[in-house]
Amino acid sequence: MCADVNTIYINGKWSAAQGAATIPVNEPSTGEVFAHISRGGKPEIDAAVKAARAAFEGVWGSTAAVDRGRLLSRLGLKIAEHAEELAQIEARDTGKALKLARSDIAATARYFEYYGGAADKLHGDTIPFLEGYQVMIVREPRGVAGHIIPWNYPAQMFGRTIAAALAAGNTAVLKPAEEACLSILRLTELAHETGIPAGVLNVVTGYGEEAGAALSSHDDIDFLSFTGSPEVGTLIQKAAADNHVPCVLELGGKSPQIVFEDADVEKALPVIVSAIIQNTGQTCSAGSRVLVQRSIYEEFIAALAKRINAVQAGPHGADLDCGPVISAVQRDRVQGFLDRAQADGIQVVAQGKLDSRAPAGGYYVRPTLLGPVDIAHELAQDEVFGPVLVAIPFDDENDAVRIANGTDFGLIAGVWSENGARQIRMAKKLRVGQVYINGYGAGGGIELPFGGFKRSGHGREKGFEALKEYTVAKTIVINHK
Ligand code: ADP
Repeated sequence: MCADVNTIYINGKWSAAQGAATIPVNEPSTGEVFAHISRGGKPEIDAAVKAARAAFEGVWGSTAAVDRGRLLSRLGLKIAEHAEELAQIEARDTGKALKLARSDIAATARYFEYYGGAADKLHGDTIPFLEGYQVMIVREPRGVAGHIIPWNYPAQMFGRTIAAALAAGNTAVLKPAEEACLSILRLTELAHETGIPAGVLNVVTGYGEEAGAALSSHDDIDFLSFTGSPEVGTLIQKAAADNHVPCVLELGGKSPQIVFEDADVEKALPVIVSAIIQNTGQTCSAGSRVLVQRSIYEEFIAALAKRINAVQAGPHGADLDCGPVISAVQRDRVQGFLDRAQADGIQVVAQGKLDSRAPAGGYYVRPTLLGPVDIAHELAQDEVFGPVLVAIPFDDENDAVRIANGTDFGLIAGVWSENGARQIRMAKKLRVGQVYINGYGAGGGIELPFGGFKRSGHGREKGFEALKEYTVAKTIVINHK
């Protein structure tokens, strides 16, 4: 990996921040500092945007779609060749179990494969118009895209947002999260080695309020893609609005898993468990509410409790079900929810175990199932971003829809029922961006458009929809009379 503090990549070159300012990086499994990154700010963001602008107007703008696609596909292959190295970096930096880090890196490679293949398939259209006219709709890249991403899936987020932007012909300035971005630095090195031209991809490490704010308020970017908390999403959107910069915002959720009395319970149980413990619950699409039809509530929750009790949390290298959460701040935040729930008399139904290999300084939280929880309680409304699952009973389909849609979020949902007509009715009524029937896809599905309603954000990432977001339609009208 690049030298300790030279973590800023602008116009094809690595450098330190002005004054060599740095940020310490903690290892979540132990709580110890194990690396430093550069603390970039406005000067570095300005330089990165300038480089991206020049590359957009120069080398990238004149690269044919097929050649852009080839470069991205080659990068995908390179990522796959370095998969184990990248997974080790990702696991240590984020605390996630190695097996999850490995699947994250496989997904990262796949993003480049997918969008590399898609680059030359983004067709325009023609429209019948008045006699004597020919009308063409061409899809053009937006220009310089700013990307601000979180720490929960650094490598995957890099793939999701950078591969799509570059495939569509944009150039990029990326501000990764200060808590975890080491895999991104290595991925950027691989992009460089692959021959992605200077200025096409620029990475500025730094704090959100400094480098992030400088990027979101920059007046020479054309588009912003943000994934993170709703609070910061609001700040970003306001900053971008001052310059009329459009945004895609992906801001989290309180996603329900809805279990009807006719569900295949044995199929549902392991999926419902993994949807909340995956990445230690730090997934925007985590299935953090389980809604169970009252007629099977007690029996179902007892079976779920057995499985949650068996979940093990420990250091990333132990490769268990759950790792630590990302930081002491996050651990205290999650613990705060649990403490307040206890004070409010909410019953803890089950708790996973902490492995004896977990170092005392690591940021561990035991996976927890609570219930029944009143739908107005903060645990049923707010995103915890930890391995905390709340159970809520419901009476019938209408009640399930009312509760499922009854939060400020609307990201994804799972419906468990063997009744086909009910599956369709539910899918239509849920105000979310993705509905899974008898399954759940937290974090997965490169091909599947993904995004939210309400405070979960707007715009779509993944799949071909992302390419539409990263382009604009231009109408060309030719009078050939
Ligand atoms: P999380 O809950 O995942 O930590 P945040 O929304 O705090 O989510 O952070 C997501 C990304 O937004 C990170 O890269 C972070 O540095 C950045 N960020 C945080 N605050 C700001 C801000 N005021 N302006 C721009 N970016 C920010």
